[in-house]
Amino acid sequence: MIDIKIEIINQLKDNYTYLLHHDNSLAIVIDPADDEKIINVLESKKLKLDSIFITHHHSDHTSGVLGLMKKFPHAQIYSPSELSSLKINNISNNNKVATPINEFDILSSPGHTLDHIVLCDFKNKLLFVGDVLFRLGCGRVFEGTLDQMHDSLNKILNLSDDMKVYCGHEYTLNNLMFLEDIFRENIDLEKVKKQILQDLETNNRTIPFILGDEKKVNPFLNPNCAMSFKFKKDNNFSNLELFRYLREKKDNF
Ligand SMILES: [Zn+2]
Repeated sequence: MIDIKIEIINQLKDNYTYLLHHDNSLAIVIDPADDEKIINVLESKKLKLDSIFITHHHSDHTSGVLGLMKKFPHAQIYSPSELSSLKINNISNNNKVATPINEFDILSSPGHTLDHIVLCDFKNKLLFVGDVLFRLGCGRVFEGTLDQMHDSLNKILNLSDDMKVYCGHEYTLNNLMFLEDIFRENIDLEKVKKQILQDLETNNRTIPFILGDEKKVNPFLNPNCAMSFKFKKDNNFSNLELFRYLREKKDNF
């Protein structure tokens, strides 16, 4: 098995771009925003860009594509929707894409945007979720419906616990504060808070996280986790109703 290395590149205010490579000197980049910063990382590691993957069309996930293509004109772009005049390989639900490093299964995940996809590398247990799932939260619903977003999160909930999740933003602390506001003095939240504060102190980030751990503490992802189960029952909410309630509350938090 190839030992994939993943560089986490801080972008803009709180975005993440991910750069995957191994010792064959080729790299793939996911959701590039600031191309100069990415090119610096590629050059410092003597890597050539093989391909760019896009999870959704928002500019904070795509604005670096043009600059990268100028520097690496032979790189391939895999995107679920058009990117101005650039030539793309369109990716959609259930596609498989082989890269020099790994293979991605594409999972359609509308809600945040309609074109949103999640990249699953089942062999290496890696999941790139863009703005669908965040640690302790989920993305805002801009283009799709709350039902669509709930379905998309459900697809992720059904993936195996041992997958490592890489999301598009560092929103964890704010998400934690929201959950504390709703589920007061919760023992699971206390535990995860300790871990998160420690992660921020040591690495200045809370990414990546393990999907199985997240299923236990993220009520957006899992309405039946211990934290929200009683709340859901007391309010007589279905899974979808709890999701709607939380998402609408969070939009105004
Ligand atoms: Zn977005």
